[in-house]
Amino acid sequence: MMKIEKLPEIFTKAMPVLEKLESAGFEAYFVGGSVRDLLLDRHIHDVDIATSAYPEEVKELFEKTIDTGIKHGTVTVLYSGESYEITTFRTESGYQDYRRPDHVTFVQNLEEDLKRRDFTINALAMSTSGEIVDLFNGLDDLQKRVIRAVGNPETRFHEDALRMMRAVRFMSQLEFSLEEKTQQAVSDNHELLQKISVERIRDEFVKMGLGPHSRQAFQIFLDTKLSEDVPDFAGQSDLLSIFPSLKFSPTLETSLWAIIIILLKLPNEKIGKFMRDWKNSNATTDSVERIVECFDLLAERTPSDYELFKIGQEILLNTIDVAHILGQPVDSKALVDRYTSLPIKKASELVIDGRFLIQQGVRPGPKLGMMLDKIKEKVVSNELENSESAIKKFIQEQN
Ligand code: ATP
Ligand code: MG
Repeated sequence: MMKIEKLPEIFTKAMPVLEKLESAGFEAYFVGGSVRDLLLDRHIHDVDIATSAYPEEVKELFEKTIDTGIKHGTVTVLYSGESYEITTFRTESGYQDYRRPDHVTFVQNLEEDLKRRDFTINALAMSTSGEIVDLFNGLDDLQKRVIRAVGNPETRFHEDALRMMRAVRFMSQLEFSLEEKTQQAVSDNHELLQKISVERIRDEFVKMGLGPHSRQAFQIFLDTKLSEDVPDFAGQSDLLSIFPSLKFSPTLETSLWAIIIILLKLPNEKIGKFMRDWKNSNATTDSVERIVECFDLLAERTPSDYELFKIGQEILLNTIDVAHILGQPVDSKALVDRYTSLPIKKASELVIDGRFLIQQGVRPGPKLGMMLDKIKEKVVSNELENSESAIKKFIQEQN
């Protein structure tokens, strides 16, 4: 049996929590992603704990707890400034419609709990002494760098079709390949993805799209036809097949969506619907629309100073990132230099406002707004000094 001698601090810090469960006569293990990432020497963001104790028993043992998902057996324990999700050993049963199980059954042994997990590399556990529990050859698969379903992949995807998206997501994040039978089962069952809520598909899709092996994973996403069962991608595999040959992987969510939209050649007026179909937030949608618009502008001509001002720093940098990933030539240095030397970056940096115009005798109304825009444009373009006296003079000249 494999034993880890020296554990990283994130585990040693959690150890008293597991020891407390053990002293009370229960079993307790580190499980899932943290054990996998420890063995891969990847950054570990949190540790999950599995125990034979029932939620109520966990709550009795610790002073500060939160009922995170009591029905599913999860209690959050707050312990020396950290929070830990402690989940009772369980199996899941009564999967309805290929989605989440409608009820869970608590079980008394770790083995049953590990069996319900999706992939062999996610079904590893570690005891308080650092011993690795490996019931499904997960260690072997970590070595081979493959994603393999625990048990029969077909059955497992029928239980929960989201696992097919998780497979390509982990491929991308971990730089793994998909084990042959597991991949065949994805190909054979991709339609089941239609039963899964778009939000959950989107979360996995974005994680896939932003992983270091996103291009390899995207190729499998297309090959297995998972892409046919997500919003707005059906019948578009020719256009989407450019993604795997991109120069770089996107690292920003907004870049990912903008790239997809550009590859799909979506006209401007269809971007909003596309983003809503994927249940993206209004803020993400707004940014992506602006990035694609800026991308089109940069592909066509050099923007004016006033256009750069209206685009703004964040969207400009994000668009340059997108162009870079798509291999579209843009003179990013020149654009950034020009942006940096704009006299003002925000409308609020203008020394005057509407009230000032009224004081100067401009009557309130649409004309005032137009005048203000004109002043802004002149100031941004270095044709008018951003000072009260210069602007006053300019207004007088207009009358
Ligand atoms: P991450 O680093 O993204 O958090 P993770 O492996 O911890 O990766 P989670 O989605 O947080 O992934 O899930 C925690 C664990 O729960 C997984 O490692 C796996 O054992 C199990 N799990 C999660 N989702 C499923 C699922 N749909 N089917 C079966 N097991 C699952
Ligand atoms: Mg996790």
